[in-house]
Amino acid sequence: MKNIKEMSENYDLIYEEADKLINKCNPCQFENGKCIIAREKNIKICCRPCPYLTDKGCNVKALGCKVSFCPGIWKLFSESLTQKFRKLRRKVANKVAISALICFDSKEDFFERYRAESELLENEETDV
Ligand code: SF4
Ligand code: SF4
Repeated sequence: MKNIKEMSENYDLIYEEADKLINKCNPCQFENGKCIIAREKNIKICCRPCPYLTDKGCNVKALGCKVSFCPGIWKLFSESLTQKFRKLRRKVANKVAISALICFDSKEDFFERYRAESELLENEETDV
């Protein structure tokens, strides 16, 4: 298993970096609580079925959601913005874990799942 403390620190650092980029660029082009895709297609935003969505917005730290977007909005990104988010996604995969890219997943959910999966794998290896 990787060093959890180090992964957790990396999770927070990349989260902050992604948060700053989102605040600076407004990639989903939010206006009055609705992103451009929701406004154009008259649908609800992608967070809608998530239990962590409250009246005040997302109430958890969710790194996957900071660096993942629907196909429609990726197409509207400039080349430079696409590269910035691709770089962040690679950082998540390399410095945390590829499964940290999953959306609808809080930091606690991710680490709980990561620990359980790692233990399962370690037990399988000792059984061989
Ligand atoms: S965890 Fe992700 S999908 Fe859920 S409310 Fe937060 S940002 Fe939206
Ligand atoms: S990822 Fe797509 S659906 Fe979700 S908030 Fe951004 S533009 Fe809207």
